[in-house]
Amino acid sequence: MGEFELIRRFFAEAACARTGQGLVLGIGDDCALLELAPGEQLAVSTDSLVAGVHFPDPCDPFLLAQRALACAASDLAAMGAAPLGFSLALTLPAASADWLQGFSAGLEKMAAACDLRLIGGDTTRGPLNINITVFGRLPAGQALLRSGARPGDLLCVGGCLGDAAGALPYVLGQRPAIDSQVESLLAHYWTPAPQLALGQALRGRASAAQDISDGLLGDCAHIASASDVALVVELERVPLSQALLAVEPIDTARRHALSGGDDYVLLFCLPPEQLDALLAEGWPVQVIGRVEAGEGVHLRDAAGRPLSVPAAGFQHFSR
Ligand code: ADP
Ligand code: MG
Repeated sequence: MGEFELIRRFFAEAACARTGQGLVLGIGDDCALLELAPGEQLAVSTDSLVAGVHFPDPCDPFLLAQRALACAASDLAAMGAAPLGFSLALTLPAASADWLQGFSAGLEKMAAACDLRLIGGDTTRGPLNINITVFGRLPAGQALLRSGARPGDLLCVGGCLGDAAGALPYVLGQRPAIDSQVESLLAHYWTPAPQLALGQALRGRASAAQDISDGLLGDCAHIASASDVALVVELERVPLSQALLAVEPIDTARRHALSGGDDYVLLFCLPPEQLDALLAEGWPVQVIGRVEAGEGVHLRDAAGRPLSVPAAGFQHFSR
């Protein structure tokens, strides 16, 4: 199977590659054409997943495709953007029809869940690498930035943290996956659900937002520095899932939640007067702390006593 047959069979003919809803011209020409309404801005973000660094190799291509697209789409959620499309730059060691079948089915599934169209890409031979660029639309000037947090705001997250980190020993085959609790953790690792609807609901309400990909505390540090404020996290208020608590003692579960990474849950700051309406509308908003004047990230216990902050989030190239 050559490059062009591969593109046609597994990508160009996929249901998610059909034009419509902002995609004027899709796969097959030199560029895709996207259309924005007057007064809209284009939100763009790229993520690479490298075999052996971001996922174990080999692994199930059906799950891998879902994870790759979900991780990329989570950045649209973090900006409050409405999903438009994505491009896929795929580097493959070999053109295996079985592998590609699974991969394109996974892509199709997550593209449907995220309402994203496949607009194009590139296909090359080499060590397995998946690079996805996502495109979203935003009313001009309404993007959720990291820089708008103000002292007095509430610090919030959109759901339980630490599940993907808790899944890692099972993903890596270091522990046998035995029960339904582990299945729930594995689902958070392989098929995270980007909080696209929540992100859009936070437009005009949250003062700052981002998605948690490198661990809560490390990602809090980005908002603290961009907004020039201090973020206070109350350890006991950080939400943990039953599934995580079923397989780990609470101290380990909390460590995963604070610095584990791969959560793809939104982290945002909210002027206090916004909270009731969001909760009444049914959005998953969990208050875990507050914004204060100052700098850095501060971990406190229920009585307000300072706790030491564990090492920062994941960084490539750090020693
Ligand atoms: P070019 O030589 O102009 O870069 P290519 O031959 O790489 O074009 O790709 C042909 C068409 O197929 C383009 O529209 C491109 O966007 C699309 N394409 C290539 N690889 C992929 C892929 N992995 N997924 C989706 N579309 C792809
Ligand atoms: Mg090309």
